[in-house]
This record gives sequence, structure tokens and C-alpha cells, in this order.
Amino acid sequence: MKVYAIPLRTRFRGITVREGVLLRGPAGWGEFCPFADYSDAESVPWLRAALEAAETGWPAPVRDRVEVNTTVPVVEPAKAHELVRASGCRTAKVKVADPRVSLADDCARVEAVRDALGPGGAIRVDANMAWDVDTAVRAIADLDKAAGGLEYAEQPCPSIEDLAAVRRRVDVRIAADESIRRAEDPLKVAVAGAADIAVLKVAPLGGVRRALEVAEACGLPCVVSSAVETSVGLAAGLALAGALPSLEFACGLGTLSLLEGDVCASSLSPVDGYLPVPRTAPEPAEGYAAGPGIAAAWEDRLNRVRRQAHL
Ligand SMILES: [Mg+2]
Repeated sequence: MKVYAIPLRTRFRGITVREGVLLRGPAGWGEFCPFADYSDAESVPWLRAALEAAETGWPAPVRDRVEVNTTVPVVEPAKAHELVRASGCRTAKVKVADPRVSLADDCARVEAVRDALGPGGAIRVDANMAWDVDTAVRAIADLDKAAGGLEYAEQPCPSIEDLAAVRRRVDVRIAADESIRRAEDPLKVAVAGAADIAVLKVAPLGGVRRALEVAEACGLPCVVSSAVETSVGLAAGLALAGALPSLEFACGLGTLSLLEGDVCASSLSPVDGYLPVPRTAPEPAEGYAAGPGIAAAWEDRLNRVRRQAHL
């Protein structure tokens, strides 16, 4: 077991350091890294996903590489332009609706991203549930214009009902992310007509196999995204993206660049906008070991979640 702590290059989800535990089992390495605000109960699927990787391994893939998007955090337009150009990706996901900036700022950032990608690239925006229905409808229209056409808008509002209401009023496709993570009712999003696309994350859904079941049950095109893991956790996301019967959109698995470094020597960093589908997670190396206080806290958390899940 290894506990890591890696600084983020840019503040993300209100955190500046990513921490987690790497577990080794007969099938390889798994990563357990629920965010600090997740309860023990909410962290159970994260543990199941880590144990699947370490103990069971993943289903056989149907493709050997996955196109990925680059993620543009809330930064100045010039910086956004630079990040997109440096990524080599043809698809960019732009974080919008952050309370620190205005819609005009978001539009300026999206325009800079379009300039960097050129007309052939795809731009999606992620509002992380920040808007009410009317705000979402206005903002999506403005961002769609600024982008010269959005690929989709991710989770504009918190509730499934509001997603459905926004979807009826805009031409841009709507993707559900936070709404899908409650894996006990993946069908609700599809049945409510709340989304055109489902965003799947391995850890909150409880593993690659469980996520494949969710994909099948919801019947929507899927985008696999990370939870800003190290290469160990990203490998599980790539295993899911590799095993989905069809994959129409670039996946949100090119997130290693959000971290200052990685626990693995052979990192899953995109090359020309693609990542390979690995059969197991890459081997962790030295570096980014958490200090004794952080390590003890994670060991304690892991044991609490294990007890809670009877694992
Ligand atoms: Mg999202």
C-alpha cells in the first residue's frame, strides 16, 4: 500500500493537493482516492473500484486506444489557448460557471479555445450543476455562439428535472455527470429525457464492470471521465472506455496534466490526443509519498470504508 500526495497545477474542485491510496493485489494496482468531502458511505464504490483493479482485473477491451479531451480550468484566455495548443487534443472541455468569474469571462475563454483548436475541433463545457434553468438556457446559448458550436453542455443544473427542462429549451446536447453517479438509478436520467450523453466515472460507480452495466442500462452514448486520479486510477477509466461497445466522443481521461506529477514512471499522458488501453495499471514508482500524518489518516479512512462495505 502506498499513500500519495500530489500538488495540483491549478486549483480544481476547491482542492490544491490530490491524495489517495494505491493498493496492490494479485491482478495489479488499484487506486482509492475519494475526495475529502465524501463520506465513508459515498466512498464505498471507490473502494470497490480499487479492489476490482487489484484483485480481479478488468474485462477484455474492444479497442486499443481512446481519444481524449483536454480540460481547461478557470484561467485567463491566453493561458487557455496555450493549454489547448500544448495538449495536442482535438477536443477541449472548458470548465464554466465558476462563481469567481462572469459569463463574459467564460465566453472569452471559450473563444480562445476555439481559436486554439481551429474549426475542426470540438468544445464541450462543464457547469458542474451551477445554474438554474433560465440561467442555463441563456448561458448555453451565449457559450454556443462563442464556441461557434458546442459539442455538448455537461450538467448545467443539479436536478434531473431541471436538466430535462434545459434540454427541451436549447439545441445543444446535454450531458449528465453528477446525475449519473448515483448508480442505483442510472435509468432515471434516460427515462426523464434529461440528457443526450452519459458521463461515466469508474470510481464513483464502483468499478469497470458496474459502469458497463450502467452504460447498458441507461442506453445513452457514454463519455468516460476521470476523477483526477494518478495513472493507476486512469488505467481503470481507460479499461472502461476500451470495453464500451461503442464510443462516439473523446473521453475525459487526459487529466494527468492537472497534477504536478504522477506516481508512475510510465505515465498515461496523451500523445496526439490519444491514450492506450492498458490491461493493468502501470507500476507505481518512488515519489510523491505522503507524509506520515496524511498517510495515517488515509490508512484510517481506508479501514473505516472497508468495515462499512464489509470488504
Ligand atoms: Mg463534470
